[in-house]
Amino acid sequence: RTAVVLFTRDLRVHDHPALAAACSAFERVVPLYVLDPELQKLSPNRTRFLHQSLADLREALRKRGGDLVIRRGDPVAETVKLARKVGAEGVGLSADVSHYARRRERRLRAECDRHRMFLRLFPGLTIVEPGALRPSGGDHYRVFSPYFRAWQGVRLRDELAAPKRVRLPDGVDPGRLPDPPKGDSPAAAVGGENAARRRLTAWLPTLHRYDDIHDDMAGDETSRLSPYLRFGCVSPLAVATRAGDRDGPFVRQLCWRDFYHQVVAGFPDLSTAAYRRGAREDWRYDEHALDAWTEGRTGMPIVDAGMRQMRAEGWMHNRARLITAGYLTKHLGLDWRPGLEVFFRWLLDGDRVNNSGNWQWVAGTGNDTRPYRGFNPVRQAERYDPDGAYVRRWVPELESVAGKAVHQPWRLPDAVRRTLDYPPPLEVPGADPVWLR
Ligand code: FAD
Repeated sequence: RTAVVLFTRDLRVHDHPALAAACSAFERVVPLYVLDPELQKLSPNRTRFLHQSLADLREALRKRGGDLVIRRGDPVAETVKLARKVGAEGVGLSADVSHYARRRERRLRAECDRHRMFLRLFPGLTIVEPGALRPSGGDHYRVFSPYFRAWQGVRLRDELAAPKRVRLPDGVDPGRLPDPPKGDSPAAAVGGENAARRRLTAWLPTLHRYDDIHDDMAGDETSRLSPYLRFGCVSPLAVATRAGDRDGPFVRQLCWRDFYHQVVAGFPDLSTAAYRRGAREDWRYDEHALDAWTEGRTGMPIVDAGMRQMRAEGWMHNRARLITAGYLTKHLGLDWRPGLEVFFRWLLDGDRVNNSGNWQWVAGTGNDTRPYRGFNPVRQAERYDPDGAYVRRWVPELESVAGKAVHQPWRLPDAVRRTLDYPPPLEVPGADPVWLR
């Protein structure tokens, strides 16, 4: 008896419900990944990370006597073709929430039905499954706090061990995995389950400091697990279980990830349409400002530092994401959607769910209960980068400016300013921001 396990963004062998179930119920299991050329175009950084993660997964499966079978093309057609060829009874898959994933799942179900195979969906993408919690009178939670309270009460399933053995049917061509392509960011993290587990183990001893230090941009002490969670190199349940305290601030952040997944399950257009009815739509159009923001040359040091960190590492500190996104939408007055696309191109953790949920929250079009909150990038910078070390790290033109003066180069004496190769802040027609006065 044979089953196919289609991997998508669950690139691991530990705590993988679909793989564990297939290995215990079937003699032969075909772990499959289909490279979809459409997805590969979206982000060179993520494509590189994906290839590294696939190589690592293949290695883990080979150690267990199996292999990762690689195909290229339409995931539905390739999966069904292979399943029929090996005489599989059906296909197992981790359930996902995006438009793309749900369409893939519907098509796969139709094809499996047609060929009298089963399609079985498994949990694993989130800690608590999207749809497991429903507020009275609604199909999903729209506000975080009540969701978090309900979420804390859910009994979690036990973490699953990696299968000891994976037996491939005879005669399956495993297919070639091309070398990792070149990404855009020279200092990007390396993908794979091994790297993820190492990162988790190395970071956990600092967990007790998280509450104090997670907003310190120069300190840079958050877990940096987001790209690994994005590709499922580590299961979110395993991270939450190891972190322990479900009331703690770190697990609360993991809950935000679950929260946005259940939002997208209920509102699949989150990346393109305002979530809140009546939200503003009077965005400005200003290509020059958008380009300056994208390239990290707005003349607002904390914003430029964040954008340059993203371009260098494929990752940006959460506080910098809040500041850069807030600057684009609430100060420059530009639409959140092009901003979201810039993040989506560069971020290793870029996904339709967390990216859209957070952008909408910042832009005030989402689930923020205070959508009109004010925004002052200089005050943010002085609070979360008090000494200016984060800015000097990423904006070398300002390296010579000591202390927090680096956050407002326009206030430096003319003679000093002229020596810096750094632009004045972008102007916004009709705006007179307090921090420039
Ligand atoms: P930690 O602080 O160590 O948190 C642990 C994990 O919790 C993260 O890895 C992440 O999976 C989850 N998490 C933390 N904060 C959030 C949050 N606000 N929303 C959802 N999950 C969260 N995160 C993404 O994973 N993908 C994105 O595309 C993304 N886009 C963002 C866009 C904007 C405008 C903003 C403000 C935030 C965005 N975030 C996104 C959320 C957050 O910034 C990152 O998850 C976090 O910075 C990742 O670093 P870390 O792993 O060190 O986080």
